[in-house]
Amino acid sequence: MSRARVCLTVDFDGVSSWIHSFGEADSPTNLSRGLFGVDVGAPRLLDLFDDYGVETTWFVPGHTVESFPEAVEAVWAAGHDIQHHGWSHTRPGTYPDTATERADITRGIDAIEALTGRRPSGYRSPSWDFSPDTLSLLQELNFDWDSSQMGAEFCPYPLRTDWQAPADEPFDRGRETDLIEVPVSWQRDDFPAFAFDRQRGYANETAVFEMWESQFEWMYRNIDDGVYVLTMHPQIMGYGHRIERLDALVETMAAYPNVEFTTVDDVAASV
Ligand SMILES: [Zn+2]
Repeated sequence: MSRARVCLTVDFDGVSSWIHSFGEADSPTNLSRGLFGVDVGAPRLLDLFDDYGVETTWFVPGHTVESFPEAVEAVWAAGHDIQHHGWSHTRPGTYPDTATERADITRGIDAIEALTGRRPSGYRSPSWDFSPDTLSLLQELNFDWDSSQMGAEFCPYPLRTDWQAPADEPFDRGRETDLIEVPVSWQRDDFPAFAFDRQRGYANETAVFEMWESQFEWMYRNIDDGVYVLTMHPQIMGYGHRIERLDALVETMAAYPNVEFTTVDDVAASV
């Protein structure tokens, strides 16, 4: 009988994404969106996960750990996994040099280690892309897995290095590494659908939740041992009515036989 695994993942950006990715450090309204996630959204998500007894994966920037230690401690105390999401939530491609990117990743490791007592094994890139140095830095810093790329839909796979994408030559896929990718999708992320920024983020909520359910059902029917990764942000998913919709989605998925809710770390370790 086939089985399916579901990884509920939470990118707990706090205010870091507004400061470091979107350049909104001087916008009290945008910062307040992050604070909503810390004060309202995260506790609601924790309550929902507790109702179902599921262990989830929270990708937490060091900036969030150090700015809102009690909120992150509540995640850890509730038994969820905490993994790496940068210290400053800087898009990797915008670091000025390798040393700066290394320092930011190292600072993020230290912040998580100070909270949990153990080193993070996995990385999720802020804004879901790598710089030319990110993969080698993850290897150098002994990460086991990543969850930021999209080379498969529901199946983990090894990341490749030394690939080449010259403008005037064929693409070279490079060679496999030991780093496992547990792939994400913009199609299973609440941010592009719902984070209103005057240009986007006003999707039909019913349609989005129906899409997420139909994606799961397709995976269940067609992929043996598929891994369904859903990405949420407390400041987006944490609105009351969305929590209810998420509750219904989790209830639906949990009702299928042989469905396991697990952490990304457990998935990567099983490859
Ligand atoms: Zn993020």
